[in-house]
Amino acid sequence: MTREEYADLLLPNIKHDAEYYENLYPERDLKEGAIVTRYAPSPTGFVHIGALYTAFISSKMANQTDGVFFLRIEDTDQKRSIDDGVNKIIEDLAKFDINFDEGVTKEGDKGNYGPYTQSERKEIYQAYAKKLIIEDKAYPCFCTEEESSQDREIQSKNKERLGYYGKWAKCRNLSIEEVIQRVNNGEKYIIRLKSTGDFNKKFTFKDCVKGKSELPENDEDFPIIKSDGLPTYHFAHAIDDHLMHTTHVIRGDEWYPSVPKHTQVFVMLGFKVPKYAHISPLLKEDNGTRRKISKRKDPEAAVSFYHEKGIPNEAVMLYLETVANSNFEMWLEQNKDKDPKEFVLDFKKMSTGGTMFDYDKLINISKNYISKLKAEEVYNLALEHAQTYNQDFAELLKQYKDYSIQIFNIEREQKKPRKDIAYFSDVQNQIWYMFDELFKPENYEWQNIKDKKEIELILNIYLNEYYDSSDDKDTWFNKMKELAEKLGYAGNMKDYKENPDNYKGNITDISMVIRVALTSKSMTPDLYDIMRLLGTDRMKKRVEMALQ
Ligand code: GLU
Repeated sequence: MTREEYADLLLPNIKHDAEYYENLYPERDLKEGAIVTRYAPSPTGFVHIGALYTAFISSKMANQTDGVFFLRIEDTDQKRSIDDGVNKIIEDLAKFDINFDEGVTKEGDKGNYGPYTQSERKEIYQAYAKKLIIEDKAYPCFCTEEESSQDREIQSKNKERLGYYGKWAKCRNLSIEEVIQRVNNGEKYIIRLKSTGDFNKKFTFKDCVKGKSELPENDEDFPIIKSDGLPTYHFAHAIDDHLMHTTHVIRGDEWYPSVPKHTQVFVMLGFKVPKYAHISPLLKEDNGTRRKISKRKDPEAAVSFYHEKGIPNEAVMLYLETVANSNFEMWLEQNKDKDPKEFVLDFKKMSTGGTMFDYDKLINISKNYISKLKAEEVYNLALEHAQTYNQDFAELLKQYKDYSIQIFNIEREQKKPRKDIAYFSDVQNQIWYMFDELFKPENYEWQNIKDKKEIELILNIYLNEYYDSSDDKDTWFNKMKELAEKLGYAGNMKDYKENPDNYKGNITDISMVIRVALTSKSMTPDLYDIMRLLGTDRMKKRVEMALQ
């Protein structure tokens, strides 16, 4: 039996050989330095914040070099696939403005290097596995799961390195005759790489993020094709990234230790090895130790969390960019008018260890971002959020559209805009008292002046003798001063500070009484604007309610 026939027996019914695929996917015609990279999730439908971070870096790297960013679905572990998982991933990323030039789309594959879903590439992987078998660089293994786990037990008892290598690689030297016999007997098998590595030797490479790296060579005969005929990640990665002409494999840090394995596949197949960039994880402090943000433990691990919370996607991306390159914040400060897209990301400025996920900082960025939006934009985003998560409130926003926009417009579009909204799920909480439907005459936050008679006196005089809805802000303020002085309060803070004993209090006590009477809250945006929006009739009703 020739080696070709032998390979055919092990992986039958393959139409094409490796050479065929080499010709099918020619080099890309791109300019020098263009980065071709990909996002390669399993179709679980779940986008982890760490994955979003990596996808963002990958997409930006491709964009800023006029390269290609494509989506490849890694579904060879069928247990991890869910229906509609791919669409969910595409939608979630699109919300963060991460779009693909090529690969899997909702309408099918786009691009000349497909199929882009691994389960549809079974024949391709097998063609390359066959090539390795023919060249005696791969072999079938009949060891059962039980045998392997027994071996692992012995290895750990003897404090030996775990794995299928050296004397533990039991099927490595089976004779062709024995293999043929066992295959004909219907025994199940997988295909393993015949490793040429030596664990005691060092394998060195340059990681784009971590720099010069040194790991032990791989001597494990790891599986490349599983018993269901599908490839392992290790094998599929090499074939796909070779045929799709990926220049940079940008991926999570957890794959870093596998580089010797992966490089071995590239080399044994005669492929050019791509550049690797391992992105360090986002960390959290947990009981004094640092750990990766976890899908199981942390709600903020899922990107859906940010949608529910109503943190604008742009704010999340700005935050991730500050994590990616610490000089981004400074750049933004110095380039206020520029689009953050113009910032050039640099692998060398990325953290090599891991970065603490700073939720407070994210919220701060979100607050600043929202404070710079126009009132109408805030309205639209608040409405969009409420329509999904708070329908009653959405109805109010729709019913009182112009009024709501005016509320959002208070202290907006000025040098120091108001920063009360940190995320959109908090909007109702910030402005409920402006809607009669939500206003409840309770929990009044009276401050210095608590005496009912005094409160009544201030409010009555103010409404009957002073307030005029046509006053401009200065007149309004001067009247407030006059009222304060008439009732024995200091009209300005300087007088009050010099002689506090001469007064019952000062102008802020007066305005506080009015503020609390109208809104029940002691902290609100500009009182003058609030009064104008409430209008005289509603103000009178609110005062009546407060006095009861
Ligand atoms: N499917 C792998 C993962 O989700 C992809 C890693 C890679 O980008 O190569 O971790």
